[in-house]
Amino acid sequence: MTRVLLGGGAVFDAASGSVSRADVVLVDGRIAEVGPGLDGDTFVDCAGGLLVPGFVDCHVHVALGGPQTPRGLPRSTRPLSVVPALRTLLDLGITTVRDAWGADAGLPVALAEGWFPGPEVLLSLRQVCTTGGIGDHWSPRYGPMDFFADPSMPDPVFDGPDAARAVVRRMVRAGADWIKVTASGSVAQGWGVHDVQLTEAEMRALVDEADRQGGRGVMVHAHGARAAELAARAGARSIEHGTFLDDAAVTALAEAGSWLVPTLSTSQADPGDPGETAEPHRAAVRRAFEAGVPIAMGTDAPVRPYAEALREIHYLAEAALGPAGALRAATLEAARLLRLADDRGEIAPGKRADLVLLTGEGLATERLTERVHTVWQSGRVVRAGAGRPTG
Ligand SMILES: [Zn+2]
Repeated sequence: MTRVLLGGGAVFDAASGSVSRADVVLVDGRIAEVGPGLDGDTFVDCAGGLLVPGFVDCHVHVALGGPQTPRGLPRSTRPLSVVPALRTLLDLGITTVRDAWGADAGLPVALAEGWFPGPEVLLSLRQVCTTGGIGDHWSPRYGPMDFFADPSMPDPVFDGPDAARAVVRRMVRAGADWIKVTASGSVAQGWGVHDVQLTEAEMRALVDEADRQGGRGVMVHAHGARAAELAARAGARSIEHGTFLDDAAVTALAEAGSWLVPTLSTSQADPGDPGETAEPHRAAVRRAFEAGVPIAMGTDAPVRPYAEALREIHYLAEAALGPAGALRAATLEAARLLRLADDRGEIAPGKRADLVLLTGEGLATERLTERVHTVWQSGRVVRAGAGRPTG
């Protein structure tokens, strides 16, 4: 077994947030050893650079980045648009993603077959919601729209607790790893952001049924505080966006152990037009952080382009978490949310060899995109940097 020695660099410990000088040895796609003075059969010079775990994006839409036209495009456009999206994310060192709807169960097949490179993708297929919610693509003229004829993208609309169980079963049958729920309206669409669009009984039925289906988790789109509070109290594993969280909501998240996936890129990304949700959203993240709510990174790309995904880490750092906390949110904390922390999320013996070599040793997050030098996925180089990683 070949021992690949990544030598002479600084290593970020996601658990403690500290950085130390260490070598890392990879064997058979796993991290075998971490420490000073190690040896190996092949040597990668990491001097001057910083090794961090492969990044994990807990909220992205890998199949929604294709061009939009008023008349629509052939159906093949959507699955084919996944190819450049995944290449872009992997080039940034994002080695695992949770798709927050849009991709279907053909994608993991394509990745397993090696048809094109990409992060490992966990699926939610569609946004489960009650009638008229934002996952309900319906027009008064045409009725049900878009995916309804495609059995790989099941009907996500339900009303009532029994129907909630049925919709979870439909999604699982079609290959969903996660159940994505929309509990409020949409900032982007400009309506219903403070509404609570399902009942407590419906939310509890979704969570219970998902758990019965192989211990699956529920991720809940909620901008308003009351929708987020209801979802957390019902046992949702993560709250997405959380744009207007108040004290009662963050207390509910902290008590329930629900993660917040803020997707700050949706509100912070345009410096020329920060929008009216920019400051409330930052305040919500600060409030959650101070209440002890675990926070994981999610970009909501392509709301902002895939190529800007690592900016989310900087937004988290600036809002409350600091650079080490934000890097932890994008690695170990994200892996914990996805129940993958036994397998990845930190640079430690036994973990999957998903690693990113950044140029320069500092933790500062401003220029992360430019600093990505080399990326390993399961021990394989998937982006090879040129020259030494000195900053
Ligand atoms: Zn989203």
